[in-house]
Amino acid sequence: PAACRDLLDSVPTGLFIDGRFRPAQSGATFAVSDPASGDTLIEVADAGVEDASAAMESAVGAFDAWAATAPRERSEILRAAFDLVRKRADDFALLMSLELGRALPDSVNEVNYGAEFLRWFAEEAVRINGRYTTSPSGNGRILVTHQPVGVALAITPWNFPLAMGTRKIGPALAAGAPIIVKPAEETPLTMLALAQVFDEVGLPPGVLSVIQTSHAAQVSAPLIDDPRLAKISFTGSTEVGRMLLGQAAQNVQRTSMELGGNAPFLVFEDADIDLAVQGAFLAKMRNGGEACTAANRFLVHADVAEEFTSSLMDKMGQLQVGPGYAEGTTLGPLVNQQQFDSVAASVVGAVGEGARIRLGGEAIEGAGYFYPATVLDEVPADAPVTQAEIFGPVAVVSTFTTEDEAVSAANATEFGLAAYIYTRDVDRAFRVSERLESGMVGVNRGVISDVAAPFGGVKQSGLGREGGSEGIYEYLTTKYIAFT
Ligand code: ADP
Repeated sequence: PAACRDLLDSVPTGLFIDGRFRPAQSGATFAVSDPASGDTLIEVADAGVEDASAAMESAVGAFDAWAATAPRERSEILRAAFDLVRKRADDFALLMSLELGRALPDSVNEVNYGAEFLRWFAEEAVRINGRYTTSPSGNGRILVTHQPVGVALAITPWNFPLAMGTRKIGPALAAGAPIIVKPAEETPLTMLALAQVFDEVGLPPGVLSVIQTSHAAQVSAPLIDDPRLAKISFTGSTEVGRMLLGQAAQNVQRTSMELGGNAPFLVFEDADIDLAVQGAFLAKMRNGGEACTAANRFLVHADVAEEFTSSLMDKMGQLQVGPGYAEGTTLGPLVNQQQFDSVAASVVGAVGEGARIRLGGEAIEGAGYFYPATVLDEVPADAPVTQAEIFGPVAVVSTFTTEDEAVSAANATEFGLAAYIYTRDVDRAFRVSERLESGMVGVNRGVISDVAAPFGGVKQSGLGREGGSEGIYEYLTTKYIAFT
């Protein structure tokens, strides 16, 4: 798209290593494409093992000085980066809609959310506290302090190209740890634009590296093999997370894993149905459904199911499908062919399992990976479609009649990231929140992500927490000093 050309031409396309944007040592590049057409937007440098190794050397070299930099100074750099991202908010939003496809309003939301991690961790950088106590026996003192973990590797997904980076870069830098980022191959441009921001605000060379590559496994494996790597923070599929945990076991590296989700969205008979539908719409359609916190299964009390489903259909039916960067679009394409095929297959599968199509359900023909807003109901609560993460604009509605039945259905998954409940009964809200096997629960609200709250899952949704006052400890080690 011609109007976007200037922006694309202004984004660095090199690897960001040792404070400079540079081509891959092999000279290789790969294409970043427009999900609305499949066309190439731009070519970017394609990191190889030797580039990853250069990033590691520079991170190791930067570690001591960065760890020794005054927390206030680390904080000021993060704060300056926050200000600059906000100043370039329009560019960041458009860039994300270009490489990811999703609708511009969703990208605008992500710029706000993603930038906030920089501000939050700028504030946390100066609040890394320890403690000092007398031992119970009275014959010694206990000092507890926190030190930066060392060099960290972040591997990020395409669905939130900015926020999944800042959520890792923010705490690492605040803690005093250098970080090497391997962004998703679908969406490297946002991370490169962020690296440019850090470069401009004076982050010392080596503290942040960005090594986009078209062969993630090959490039990340030697980094993880390197005993100088202290920490891996990954956001992506459970399958890849499991593999990375296996690799990290070799050197007993610290890990944070934000993996897949399969969020249940429970609507009880006493819920405010209008509010529940508004929340359901946000929980399902934020980011076009491409979010690990997305409501994946609607479990609705049989008495209110039709009222809920028909209003959700009304709301979802109003979405305007089009290229993410086009005026008026509220539902962009899926990110790539693989996601498109997977979403289309879930719907075909669900129908085979007895689901009824109430809205959409037909893949859109032609260029680009467009899939319409879709609502399925009469889905048996244990149908295979309820076990897989859909990652698209498809709402799957099942019914229940008792609270116990609802909770067991909600927990009948290997995942445990987010869950949502709608009820007006406070006792039930507490009771059900406590019984749900998930790291996060939204009560009468459809969006729960907040920089000030610990984000993360239980079961096979992951390990560790990002954001909140917990997030920075993922990049700190605890040291106990026994003092006489
Ligand atoms: P998604 O299905 O969302 O693309 P993935 O888990 O495949 O999720 O990808 C998330 C991130 O992990 C991306 O940056 C991707 O390049 C990276 N990745 C995928 N496979 C591997 C691997 N074997 N080793 C390291 N990183 C990987």
